Amino acid sequence: MYQALYRIYRPHRFREVVGQPHAVAILRNALRRGRLGHAYLLSGPRGVGKTSLARIVAMAANCLDPDDGEPCLRCEACLNSQLYTVEIDAASNGGVDDTRDLRERAQFVPPIGRRRVYILDEAHMLSPQSCNVLLKILEEPPEHLVFLFATTAPEKMLPTVLSRCQRINLRRIGDAEVAAQLTMVAAEAKLLVSPEAVAWITRRAEGCMRDALAMLELAASYAEGEVEVTDVRTALGSVPADELSALLAAVLAGDGEAVLDRTAALEEEGADFRQLSRDLLDEAGRRLTAAYRGDPRPGAALLLGLCRELLDLESGGAGAESGRLGLEARLLTVAATSRQLPAVPAAPAAKEPAANHPPTQIPADATPLDLAQLAQLAGGRERWFDLILQGASGCHQGGQAWISFKSRGSLIRAEQEDARKLFEKGLTQLIGQPVETHFMMSEER
Ligand SMILES: [Zn+2]
Repeated sequence: MYQALYRIYRPHRFREVVGQPHAVAILRNALRRGRLGHAYLLSGPRGVGKTSLARIVAMAANCLDPDDGEPCLRCEACLNSQLYTVEIDAASNGGVDDTRDLRERAQFVPPIGRRRVYILDEAHMLSPQSCNVLLKILEEPPEHLVFLFATTAPEKMLPTVLSRCQRINLRRIGDAEVAAQLTMVAAEAKLLVSPEAVAWITRRAEGCMRDALAMLELAASYAEGEVEVTDVRTALGSVPADELSALLAAVLAGDGEAVLDRTAALEEEGADFRQLSRDLLDEAGRRLTAAYRGDPRPGAALLLGLCRELLDLESGGAGAESGRLGLEARLLTVAATSRQLPAVPAAPAAKEPAANHPPTQIPADATPLDLAQLAQLAGGRERWFDLILQGASGCHQGGQAWISFKSRGSLIRAEQEDARKLFEKGLTQLIGQPVETHFMMSEER
């Protein structure tokens, strides 16, 4: 039967648990001293081993031949852990069905072993009815009962339940430990993986061992021979590195048009925009770190801005839209900032004509533009063209024009090709000559 790597290589003994020495020490010591409590709350991020640890506790509490708190994994009790372990997934139905007869069954000692162990996954999602049943039992727990609550959101648990638990916090697993475990599992599973691929997966797993092993497995099933970074990227639906760099370059150069062209092309290729956003964040973060490590590049502020936008997008911040539109809005915001920043000063000798520079500032004596007239001249009688011009202002001087929009949505719309053409046409007629047009957001007042 096929089993996922994560299942095969999950820890079965305390000493195999990765990255949680503190939690392991508390539980193992309690078992060693025969002082296991009746209720524990294992809290921590997803994929760090809460359920695995709970299963080890269940086994160690019942093992007939424990060795210094560790289960032997060979005795009758260790081989039949399902006879005393009850796992309830509160996420599926609030645990109602499972807890309904819990009160009756909980009174009896298990057919094998000394302790009946209840593992409640995603315990913060327990229904109020289930919590009531549990509270009644926890008030005066029978000697043979142990409750292990596992949760990613302890703050959502009832205080009355929390107060009856010994709380153990599992931490995010460190990168070095994730990388070491990946290398170990790869060797055991006879998978060839390059160190770069291990590093890439580790960075992306963000301390979640389950994700790390799932990525390794996916990449290994895709790769022919040794697993390389490109295999991981392709298996995860990441865009090729050079396309990613080109998109990033367009953002940092403030070239909104190129940004939109590239995202459109990526959508056609079937790119996963959530993944793309993570890849961009990953790359921008890497460059930012390099910029702060004694290689000061002028782009640091922009990279920081980009990281902020992408993080906000990922966390589903207020007004965050998913998919292509959401990502485009964020990228164009950063691109617009780029155009407003002073240009990187060129060597004085190589001074280029002003028109070739990105606009640094609107000249104070620029001539204001009548945007209502512009709309008319542009012939954009469609309502959308009027809409994006609402609240906008514009001015021109010396072959350049600046249009400041009131909303980010308008700016994005204006950057699109059909709108660009209308602006070009209208401005040429309005000013009497072709001009280079710059779009930006009006300053917030
Ligand atoms: Zn045993």
